[in-house]
Amino acid sequence: MSNATDAEPAPSPTPGRTDVLVVGAGPAGSAAAAYAARAGRDVVLLDMATFPRDKTCGDGLTPRAITELDALGFADRLAGRPRIIGLHLHGWGADQRVTWPGERFADWGSAVARMEFDDELRRFAGEAGAQMVSGHKAVDVEWDGDRIGAVVVEGPEGRRTIGAQTVIVADGVRSGLGKVLGRQWHRDTAYGTAGRAYVASGRADSEWMGSHLELRDAAGTALPGYGWVFPLGDGQLNVGVGALATAKRPAHVELRPTLRHYAEMVREEWQITGEPQRVTSALLPMGGAVSGVAGRNWMLIGDAAACVNPLNGEGIDYGLETARLAVGLLGDGVDDFTERWPDLLTEHYATAFSAARRLAALFTVPQVVPLLGRPGLRSGRLMATVVRVMANLVTEEDKDVVARAWRTAGRMSIRVDDRPPFR
Ligand SMILES: Cc1cc2nc3c(=O)[nH]c(=O)nc-3n(C[C@H](O)[C@H](O)[C@H](O)COP(=O)(O)OP(=O)(O)OC[C@H]3O[C@@H](n4cnc5c(N)ncnc54)[C@H](O)[C@@H]3O)c2cc1C
Repeated sequence: MSNATDAEPAPSPTPGRTDVLVVGAGPAGSAAAAYAARAGRDVVLLDMATFPRDKTCGDGLTPRAITELDALGFADRLAGRPRIIGLHLHGWGADQRVTWPGERFADWGSAVARMEFDDELRRFAGEAGAQMVSGHKAVDVEWDGDRIGAVVVEGPEGRRTIGAQTVIVADGVRSGLGKVLGRQWHRDTAYGTAGRAYVASGRADSEWMGSHLELRDAAGTALPGYGWVFPLGDGQLNVGVGALATAKRPAHVELRPTLRHYAEMVREEWQITGEPQRVTSALLPMGGAVSGVAGRNWMLIGDAAACVNPLNGEGIDYGLETARLAVGLLGDGVDDFTERWPDLLTEHYATAFSAARRLAALFTVPQVVPLLGRPGLRSGRLMATVVRVMANLVTEEDKDVVARAWRTAGRMSIRVDDRPPFR
């Protein structure tokens, strides 16, 4: 993968019609565009930004994401990027190093600044045959009966429409186009709010991702969240803090001061020089806490469908996976996604998401985190299990006790969910 982020040429003219219109060129949209173009479809990949563009993120590629990038044919482009073998977890005066379990998923992770990663991925989609239209925002749709006939876009040349057979909506956390289509985000289950910054470091080539399960603000008050340090291999670290919340228990965390305090806390360990730069923060809908994810000829994928792990805030992997699944449905010749898409999302993610967001909601109670975290950090075996569950590295095929217990918890959780994931 090249580090070059040369500005792109002037946006190409908007086509009037296409087979598949993908709205949003983040990981989910670019992967969907690549899969669909490779399947021989005429694809337009639309984004309101011009690339390279930043995206508030921890930039961490978990083993689940690496596995999916491999399936996409992109993993080779991570040569020269950090090869991260596990997590170094800290809290309550203890620490544990846990290597990634491997087996079903890759045994390594990585971290690449989204400014570069997303740019490379959308170029990859272009090489597969998708036509990129950047600097154009999708603002509305024109209906043709119960189908989207065309998407209305605003760009430098004014308002235009792009007609499409199928629309894949990958417009991220706020999902403006999703809202137009009726997508609703429900905040009664756990959601996240997180901030990140870049700092220069003498340890940016570490093989470990750092994570602090005990998060405190500058006054020493325990917060319902966690901190991370992800080495980018280029002299920089991505440092961030995330807090969990529910509608009942909103997070009263001042992210930016907490982030600066956290960067100070890890300064010596990570040989940080200078001050945090480019501090940004964002909300994270999680665990499929949205309804209205599909209609006759459209589907929401990635963050737009709240496909973010409630226990660690990762969503790049789910963005890539949902891209593959959505394009798979196109290949199956499905004529109506209204029920098929939420059904498929439910089949793949609902049990894990339901259990995870219930656990995440528990973590918003300040006393619960040390109760579970403290013993975990004193036992290597227990912590390995915690990491496996938190990173959702459990699959349907796994038959061991932990996997069975996690699936059972998920099934029981869904039964008592007021609103199951994606409904
Ligand atoms: C602070 C923070 C830290 C995180 N850390 C990690 C991490 O370390 N690892 C991980 O896996 N995940 C992490 N996540 C989650 C991750 O960033 C998202 O899950 C991921 O970006 C989802 O990809 P996406 O393609 O669905 O959406 P996005 O990456 O948000 O892409 C959406 C794209 O759509 C475009 N767009 C939006 N609206 C329109 C419109 N109307 N018209 C045209 N284009 C539009 C945007 O410009 C953007 O390019 C983190 C999130 C936050 C907030």
